[in-house]
Amino acid sequence: MKVLVINCGSSSLKYQLIDMTNEESLAQGLVERIGIEGSILTQKVEGREKYIVKEPMNDHKVAISIVLNTLVNKESGVISSMDEINAVGHRVVHGGENYSKSVIIDETVMKELEECSKLAPLHNPPNIIGINACKELMPQTPMVVVFDTAFHQTMPQKAYMYALPYELYKENKIRKYGFHGTSHKYVSAVAAECMNKDLKDIKMITCHLGNGASIAAINEGVCVDTSMGFTPLAGIVMGTRCGDIDPAIVTYLIKEVGYSVEETNNILNKKSGVLGLSGVSSDFRDIENAVGEGSERAVLALDVFNYRVKQTIGSYAASINGLDCLVFTAGLGENSPETRQSICDGLQFLGVKIDKEKNNVRGKVTEISSADSKVKVFLIPTNEELMIARDTKELLNK
Ligand code: ADP
Repeated sequence: MKVLVINCGSSSLKYQLIDMTNEESLAQGLVERIGIEGSILTQKVEGREKYIVKEPMNDHKVAISIVLNTLVNKESGVISSMDEINAVGHRVVHGGENYSKSVIIDETVMKELEECSKLAPLHNPPNIIGINACKELMPQTPMVVVFDTAFHQTMPQKAYMYALPYELYKENKIRKYGFHGTSHKYVSAVAAECMNKDLKDIKMITCHLGNGASIAAINEGVCVDTSMGFTPLAGIVMGTRCGDIDPAIVTYLIKEVGYSVEETNNILNKKSGVLGLSGVSSDFRDIENAVGEGSERAVLALDVFNYRVKQTIGSYAASINGLDCLVFTAGLGENSPETRQSICDGLQFLGVKIDKEKNNVRGKVTEISSADSKVKVFLIPTNEELMIARDTKELLNK
């Protein structure tokens, strides 16, 4: 079975074609500037030069038709016809409370996705546009949606409820949902495999540290808490997002400092995090360089980031009453030995011990804890596309 995985943003689209007989990635690509001048598609295939298409792509339907053509044409293709694509797996950010698992797309699902758009107005609408475009271009191909929120739907009420008037939950659906679920699910499964144990028997904390960052606590095989909340703005400090702050700061910024609602939203989402603290960049590579050049604010940004991650790991160990396994993943988690080391310094009380040599690694599955560490610590590159393809295959084989 060959599965096409689609992750549609408002002006961009990532795709990957995966052969599920051996989980081999046949092609992966990125379309940028959809609906904007300068639309461009870049496709990578193992062992070949990058293939680039520069053509006007006024909307997602045009972009997806160019993706399909790129996958089948003689010059760049990896399959001989579209019929070889047996299914499409779509990433959708928000599934609300209705979806704790991936689902096959039908009319009811489409209606409920529209409903969920209220909860994720920036993310769900482009996801839906992508699904509709694919349905028009490949009407006979079965499609599945995989939600970022689904993995976290197992959280108990005490973890997902905010101490706000209860009606705001009942009437407005305001609660913690959590995001990056596909990534947390994938790396937790790989970690269990590495430990040669059933996930049900492991107390695990997974740290997805990228531009967006979140942490999940997993016990008895399911997620019991996670750091992102009603939106992906909550939790630990991120590239440009503030993470958890005193909520009174929001009204203070509007009433006392004089920012508009829009400006405040922009500050919290786009100008905060390690960018706001360091004044250097949202990219941790730039900040690590600035530390090397003596920037005190860059040092501060990393200190605040690492401290928050460490604190969250400590509190999640309390949530699950112990810890057997700690996992680092995503851009920073996979590529920064310094970050992993700083976060683990001070977690010795939990039985976390990093092996400096083993930790000096990037981007491949590695156990980085020392032989006498009570807690196994892993670096596991995430692969959300493969997880989406696995869910798609599993659902369609049922
Ligand atoms: P997202 O998918 O949320 O955009 P990624 O998981 O791709 O994020 O992570 C991107 C971030 O990872 C970059 O902003 C950068 O800060 C960090 N990163 C990537 N490579 C390195 C590296 N070699 N050293 C330190 N940080 C890195």
